[in-house]
Amino acid sequence: MAQKNIVVVGAGVAGLTSAYLLSQTRQYNITVVAKHMPGDYDIEYASPWAGANYMPVSLRDTKAAEWDRDTWYALEDLARNRPESGVHFQECEILSRDKDSQSATAEWFAELLSPSPWFKHVVPNFRILPTDKLGSGIQSGTIFTSVCINTAIYLPWLLSQCVKGGVTFKRASLEDLTDALALGSQEKVDLIVNCTGLGASKLGGVRDTAVVPARGQIVLVRNGNGGKMVNLSGTDDGDQEACYVMTRAVGGGTIIGGSYQKGDWNPEVDHELAHRIMQRAVKACPDLTGGSGKVEDLDVIRHGVGLRPVREGGARVERERMSSGWVVHNYGHGGAGYQSSYGCAQGVVRLVKEVTSAKVSKL
Ligand code: FAD
Repeated sequence: MAQKNIVVVGAGVAGLTSAYLLSQTRQYNITVVAKHMPGDYDIEYASPWAGANYMPVSLRDTKAAEWDRDTWYALEDLARNRPESGVHFQECEILSRDKDSQSATAEWFAELLSPSPWFKHVVPNFRILPTDKLGSGIQSGTIFTSVCINTAIYLPWLLSQCVKGGVTFKRASLEDLTDALALGSQEKVDLIVNCTGLGASKLGGVRDTAVVPARGQIVLVRNGNGGKMVNLSGTDDGDQEACYVMTRAVGGGTIIGGSYQKGDWNPEVDHELAHRIMQRAVKACPDLTGGSGKVEDLDVIRHGVGLRPVREGGARVERERMSSGWVVHNYGHGGAGYQSSYGCAQGVVRLVKEVTSAKVSKL
């Protein structure tokens, strides 16, 4: 039987992981078409800006929790067996302050801050931190083994795995999703996989008004943090700001964050916010500056801004019969695009198989 021709639109973590898993089935001719590719840094391209780590905020018994759970096993395997992917294990401390309990962040982080989250039997070494190990101002905390992904290494690694699996890559900026029908490696495109992130809010044929940005500002520094990740339940600087630190694999530096500014499209670095981010980090993580606690002792590589593609109601991983043919969607992952990437891409593979099966394709 002739191989079906698929065009994946988008080369962020969602598009690349989808193309990678589809290529592993060896059943399809796959082309990835995107305006931005690994190596680019652009406000329209969220993936390079992420930390990124595995720190589930999905709620128990939801589809999102299933995606996160399934993704853990893939990321764990990469950290253990494929260190060249830029994924490594790192202990992750989640620290809670009582005064954050009514905040929007605490609501968003409800499961993560719980002493008994759904993922405690998924990640290794989950435990509650003894009170004498908590710093001043912290009332409770948990710790578990997680992973930190050096996105500057990981995105090109994913691309290389796709190329190895026969995937073709093309640069193009689409006005309408159906433009993809002319961009396959074969004349007839059987199916489009839509992984356009925030672009799904503007792309013709999709224009999903539920998709909005949540602006995240970060600082990448050369300083290390004693090999652990730290995340706080909130800050004293308002609900839209956050405090987290993680050290990337293979010399990638340490990411300090951050912010979660919903509806804010501003691509420029806010230098006052950057200063607050650094101040909070040196206070929460004295190891960063050898105990000096001074922002001036941070050795900055770069400041950055990315827009998380949030979708009200959750990510969209589903098939849609459009007048031009079948589309499988995989977008709207908000702040969880890496930690849900394999679960969602496995969903894409299942949907593509359904759509290309004789029964469904006649619908
Ligand atoms: P993108 O990476 O934005 O990719 C979209 C792709 O679609 C691009 O290739 C783009 O060019 C293409 N595209 C869009 N429109 C068009 C068009 N019209 N024509 C052609 N191509 C188009 N997630 C985690 O799991 N863990 C973390 O620790 C984490 N930390 C984060 C920290 C920050 C500061 C930010 C900003 C995000 C963070 N995230 C994290 C979230 C994560 O980065 C996103 O969920 C993820 O990158 C989204 O990936 P994506 O592939 O859907 O979108």
